[in-house]
Amino acid sequence: MRYLLISDLHANDEALSAVLSRVKRKKFDRVVCLGDFVGYAADPNKVLDRIRTMPRTVLSIRGNHDKVVSGIDSGEMFNPPALFAARWTSERLSKENYEFLRRLPQGPLVIDDLFFVCHGSPLDEDAYIFSDFDASLNFVHMNRLSFDVDLCFFGHSHIPSIFTLEPDGIRVEAVRSARAKLKLEPGRKYLINPGSVGQPRDRNPKASYAIFDSDEHTVYFDRVAYDVEAARKKIHRAGLPSMLGDRLIVGL
Ligand code: ZN
Repeated sequence: MRYLLISDLHANDEALSAVLSRVKRKKFDRVVCLGDFVGYAADPNKVLDRIRTMPRTVLSIRGNHDKVVSGIDSGEMFNPPALFAARWTSERLSKENYEFLRRLPQGPLVIDDLFFVCHGSPLDEDAYIFSDFDASLNFVHMNRLSFDVDLCFFGHSHIPSIFTLEPDGIRVEAVRSARAKLKLEPGRKYLINPGSVGQPRDRNPKASYAIFDSDEHTVYFDRVAYDVEAARKKIHRAGLPSMLGDRLIVGL
């Protein structure tokens, strides 16, 4: 089975449509979304309509922005631009899209008994995994779970990255190149972030996604150029905080 992994779309329709046209000719069976469909950019309804009407099975979990926009969480921990964007989004969502966000399951979620997914981390859907220390706490937690899965995909940090629990410690890798392929080795545990579609933060503005092949045991990472300027202009025209558009240009 092949899974298209996308995360942190953040209402950026230019980025999502570029990713979907890139993968059009690639083979994959299911789409897995790791949360944060909305917040920050100007096209929450377009992005959610696209996801909800996808001709393939889509498995999704909720992100912190999805919770605030759909009223599950107050957003008191958000910085002012993020909170502004969340409120702006809530006021504009269609009923169908609002309900879709409200009903998204909480991670971690097991997919086909093969791997699991979470937004922030297996321990806490709202927590980040940035360091080997963050990863080590979560590897310990993964060992305690009742099901035996050694692969977890996560989002939230917006940085394509691989944390591997090896016999002699934790290996941390940021994925820097497009079309990079990782071969999963038996006896190791993996925490993998496919990066962000709608707001990359690794100083590379290109949209990021990954494809997991469960037969080959490989994860393929890719980056896609899109019309960043159009997405930025829409954010400015919508009256959203201008820095939310400007940061897309630098990928931060
Ligand atoms: Zn996010």
